[in-house]
Amino acid sequence: MDLTLTEEEREIRDWVRTFVTREVLPLESMVLERERRNERGLTREELKALQDKARQSGFFGIQTPEEYGGMGLGALMTALTQVELGRSFVPFSFGGDADNILYAANPEQQERYLLPTIEGDKISCFAITEPGAGSDARNLRTSAVRDGDEWVINGEKTFITFGDVADFVMVFAVTDKELGADGGVTCFLVDREAGWTSAPIPTMGEWGPASLSFQDVRVPHTAILGEEGRGFELAMRWIGRGRYLLPARALGACERLLEMGMEHARQRVTFGAPIADRQAIQWMVADSAVEIEALRWLVLTAAWQVDHGLDSRQSQSMAKLYGGVKANEIVDRVLQMHGGMGYTRELPIERWYRELRLLRIYEGTDEIQRRTIARNLLSGHVTVRGHLG
Ligand SMILES: Cc1cc2nc3c(=O)[nH]c(=O)nc-3n(C[C@H](O)[C@H](O)[C@H](O)COP(=O)(O)OP(=O)(O)OC[C@H]3O[C@@H](n4cnc5c(N)ncnc54)[C@H](O)[C@@H]3O)c2cc1C
Repeated sequence: MDLTLTEEEREIRDWVRTFVTREVLPLESMVLERERRNERGLTREELKALQDKARQSGFFGIQTPEEYGGMGLGALMTALTQVELGRSFVPFSFGGDADNILYAANPEQQERYLLPTIEGDKISCFAITEPGAGSDARNLRTSAVRDGDEWVINGEKTFITFGDVADFVMVFAVTDKELGADGGVTCFLVDREAGWTSAPIPTMGEWGPASLSFQDVRVPHTAILGEEGRGFELAMRWIGRGRYLLPARALGACERLLEMGMEHARQRVTFGAPIADRQAIQWMVADSAVEIEALRWLVLTAAWQVDHGLDSRQSQSMAKLYGGVKANEIVDRVLQMHGGMGYTRELPIERWYRELRLLRIYEGTDEIQRRTIARNLLSGHVTVRGHLG
């Protein structure tokens, strides 16, 4: 297993690092001020302008295949770009990416949904979670009933990221009650104009998901994404697109937070000496550094396995679980190192503290990752010796 970067890979990573330093970090105080006023950190126009700037240097569609105008980077390089972006809390991502399952669309649907999503002209949202079906996603109840050439969708979705701003939704509905998730769930592409409504859900984070309501929303048969009855597989494909990506971004945040903590520890003097001289603080630094390094290896191993076509599910679940747990411990330690200042809104630490908490919940909670990891081991699907055997 060789994780040495080629010259080209290093250049890509360094370009992102420089872009974040020059273009993203300077926006942090403005973003914080706005968020403190309950405004969005970046407007849609500002985000687009920043994405266009990156696009001029070719940074567009990090994982989008080249035939769709993207860079088509592999998992390892994508993870490394996420680490760099994660070093700032500014809500920035490169433009040009679309949900992986939209590539399952037929040519007409690609024209209508995939291409505008890549271009940033349309915003998508992915809706499987329901009030009664979160971790237990197979229990979804939203229904779609066939009526001639149309389907009539009824049900409620909850916690849908971008649900309040999306132009269209990839919604998962039961089309055959008998079969349920085993061949009776279908994914529909539904424009907002078709009549679904949304309401924002306030959260402890700076951006909120939304609940969606479908009441007799009619869509043509051609709104089906992929095959009728194969929606649950699509949903799992969407969720499984890269469990290493969320912890990769958190890894960047942890690096930055520890740097902030060390900087503060060197400067803050108590009882006549910098707190960096105290063993209590040094242990926080050491534990955080070890955990950051361990997380880096979990993330990169999972990404490396994806790039090599290996079964990466165990590694991805491990990276997601460890990233969520450790990022929360690290941000808590760094907040502690800052004392009262860490708790204030003058510094962004409390913001990260709130944001990183989400990592332990969405796209599979800690408990669900543990369940997956334990099941894989207990069933003999993988061994504790890892992929090297
Ligand atoms: C900000 C945010 C954004 C989100 N974005 C989206 C989105 O875009 N699209 C979408 O479809 N969903 C989205 N979600 C939903 C998210 O995926 C679910 O919240 C998550 O899967 C957990 O489901 P739940 O909230 O129903 O909790 P529950 O499933 O009710 O779980 C409650 C608790 O019980 C535990 N638990 C559940 N089952 C077990 C078990 N078998 N063994 C042990 N413990 C268990 C859980 O780990 C958790 O601690 C989002 C959620 C949030 C908060």
